[in-house]
Amino acid sequence: MKTIDFDDTETAFELKSNIELKRAYFLFKIISYPFLVTLGKLIVSVSIKFRLPVDLIIKKTVFDHFCAGIDDSDSIRVVSLLASKNVNSYLHYSVEAAQSEETYEKCLKSTLKTIEISKNNPNLPFIVFKPTGYGSSELLEKKSKSISFTPIEQDQWNKMVNRFRKTFEKAKLSNVKVFVDAEESWIQPAIDDLVENFMIKFNNKEALIFNTIQMYRKGRLEYLKELKNKAIKGKFKVGIKLVRGAYMEKERERAIKMKYSNPICDNKNDTDQQYDDGVEFMFKHINLFSIFIGSHNEKSIEKAIAIAKKLLVPSNHKNLSFGQLYGMSDNLTFSLAKNKYNSIKYLPYGPVKEVIPFLIRRAEENTSVSGQTNRELNLIESEVNRRNKVSI
Ligand SMILES: Cc1cc2nc3c(=O)[nH]c(=O)nc-3n(C[C@H](O)[C@H](O)[C@H](O)COP(=O)(O)OP(=O)(O)OC[C@H]3O[C@@H](n4cnc5c(N)ncnc54)[C@H](O)[C@@H]3O)c2cc1C
Repeated sequence: MKTIDFDDTETAFELKSNIELKRAYFLFKIISYPFLVTLGKLIVSVSIKFRLPVDLIIKKTVFDHFCAGIDDSDSIRVVSLLASKNVNSYLHYSVEAAQSEETYEKCLKSTLKTIEISKNNPNLPFIVFKPTGYGSSELLEKKSKSISFTPIEQDQWNKMVNRFRKTFEKAKLSNVKVFVDAEESWIQPAIDDLVENFMIKFNNKEALIFNTIQMYRKGRLEYLKELKNKAIKGKFKVGIKLVRGAYMEKERERAIKMKYSNPICDNKNDTDQQYDDGVEFMFKHINLFSIFIGSHNEKSIEKAIAIAKKLLVPSNHKNLSFGQLYGMSDNLTFSLAKNKYNSIKYLPYGPVKEVIPFLIRRAEENTSVSGQTNRELNLIESEVNRRNKVSI
């Protein structure tokens, strides 16, 4: 039974002007045609190569829809606007740089700055970082396979671990929680181990650190169960950002190329089932787990709400929150907030040109999930019709 009306477009788009709604419609319409996304990518990369002034066009279209701003003061304005509808946020300086010790240090600096911005702001309860922003995939892969490091690699590894530590220490002092993003399966074991070890140290009273678990990977429900046992034994709380997973194609291609069994669930149903089972398992142990449900899947969110009701977990339980990306699934975010659930938007920000790879990924992701794009288009159309009727 539906308890929240996710078709309530008035609530979903209350913060959007008519012009912003039209822009969103136009964007999702383009995104719904894969060849237009490919063409757009080409035009952007050629324009950047020849230094054509495309920044303003990108800024006024796709950037303003999916990003909070070019700097923190811009972004704080969006944070306050969302907070006026009881939606919290977490900021991410979404600049993707080539991998070097210098860029890892820069990444650490920008994460620490985001903690500083989030400190004392109750509307910014979390920050996030990507492990490969702090050290190389090669190191993480070697560690995941228990291959010994050379002395230089050992030194680089120590530096990476230190970047994790500095982030958690500052977050703890600033009372801000930390999401550690999940990455590819061949580097994830090292990330899991690292994060687990830090959870033992930092999550003793409540979950400060949240690891991300991708439920499109076979065996991740079992991993959650193991984590529960370790947490009871080690007397720590477990923070989990539960997602389906973003690297499905890459995982499949690598498994075929390197001739190992594909770590991804055999079909979408299996992923969905494992996702919902993961939610149910953690809800049963909600005093041990702090759960952030990161998903645009309406059915999963409805199921999560039904399970919470069945297990008598109140909507505003401090260990439960839901999150979507800025510019997507506003019908979920704002309706959840209206119904007193902890609802959070992921807000990327950064200079327009630097954020382009992030924007391209968003466009590609939406193209590949055509059901989601059509849902966005239908919701916007309904809201435009509703506003037209009201203004007659
Ligand atoms: C707040 C937030 C934070 C996120 N953080 C991360 C992160 O740290 N790491 C990360 O990897 N991703 C992250 N994601 C992305 C996430 O993993 C999904 O790619 C994205 O949200 C789409 O899944 P969905 O649950 O929203 O909905 P849906 O549209 O229902 O699911 C699509 C997903 O289902 C899975 N899937 C699709 N087809 C198949 C198939 N044939 N077989 C098996 N599985 C299939 C894939 O994971 C695909 O992305 C995040 C998403 C959000 C909203």
